[in-house]
Amino acid sequence: MSLEASQLNELHWLMEMLHNIDVGLVVLDREYNIQIWNGFMENHSGLLPREVKDKNLFSLFEEIPQDWFVRKAESVFLLKNKAFTIWEQRPYVFKFQNYRPITGTADYMYQNTTFIPLMAANGKVSHLCLIVYDVTDSAVHKKDLEAANQELAILSQTDGLTKLFNRTHWERCLEAEFKRWTRSHNPSCLVMIDIDHFKNINDSYGHMVGDQVIRHLADVVRQQVRETDVSGRYGGEEFSILLSDTTLENAHIFAERMRKTVEASVVKYNDIDVKYTISIGIAQVTPGISTYEAWIECSDAALYQSKEGGRNRITLFPKQ
Ligand code: GH3
Ligand code: MG
Ligand code: MG
Repeated sequence: MSLEASQLNELHWLMEMLHNIDVGLVVLDREYNIQIWNGFMENHSGLLPREVKDKNLFSLFEEIPQDWFVRKAESVFLLKNKAFTIWEQRPYVFKFQNYRPITGTADYMYQNTTFIPLMAANGKVSHLCLIVYDVTDSAVHKKDLEAANQELAILSQTDGLTKLFNRTHWERCLEAEFKRWTRSHNPSCLVMIDIDHFKNINDSYGHMVGDQVIRHLADVVRQQVRETDVSGRYGGEEFSILLSDTTLENAHIFAERMRKTVEASVVKYNDIDVKYTISIGIAQVTPGISTYEAWIECSDAALYQSKEGGRNRITLFPKQ
């Protein structure tokens, strides 16, 4: 075989490989008309090379934002540098269906795209090559991982039985509120709630019923609080609610509504009807309170007084 024939052969093979490679290859001229369209692009768009030849990219693919694309491409033409776009910035350039069985959860193909300047013999960049990579697998895995991490973060803050904040997270919120209060001195109240004679409920009906009562109280809390209030399960049958920007008087009104709602409720579990009451302690943060832990102690002391005073009642700190 002559040298020329072997070079031709190599060129032919190269063309064949480029056509069959599992990466999209597109060549555009200065007016964004398509000049080359390989097999990958053909398979995913359903358009044959001869159907797209000399057609304008933006009239064929309306999903491509022309302003954005031209800005990017013009810098490649001008500076003769490569440019990139990754799926995190823009999920795709060409909106192709995702056919992959494993990553079937994605509706379309995620793409990373490279823009390469193609230089003519005169040194001018006359054409632009786009290399389109299908990165659906890694994009979907990354998104799944992010979603799982987010779920985990929420789970680590949540009490399993009541779906309120757990104690650790609630205390973190309280600490933040206390710090905020030292600057703003807006009235802020801490409400501690404990179910009365809860041991009797467990002993009489069993722990399943006890759990149902705890869930019921959590629902009452959820119904009564505002979006800005922070409610948590502080312990077994103890709940804590942080009412920011709330005076002691308004916290008292809120707590009385809760106490009455609980008193009037009947918790049903199969054929068992349970009635229960709650005791409440409320502490408004004052300049005499120097840490968030001390704030908790004040509301705890108020709660203890409600218990001592006969239960199913509210005690305020400071005393009114
Ligand atoms: P008091 O009126 O003084 O509060 O009386 P009490 O019986 O409620 O006393 P206490 O607060 O000490 O009792 C708490 C009980 O709650 C003890 C524990 O067995 C029970 N408990 C703690 N966590 C759970 C839980 O998740 N589910 C159930 N069913 N019971 C729990
Ligand atoms: Mg109790
Ligand atoms: Mg208790």
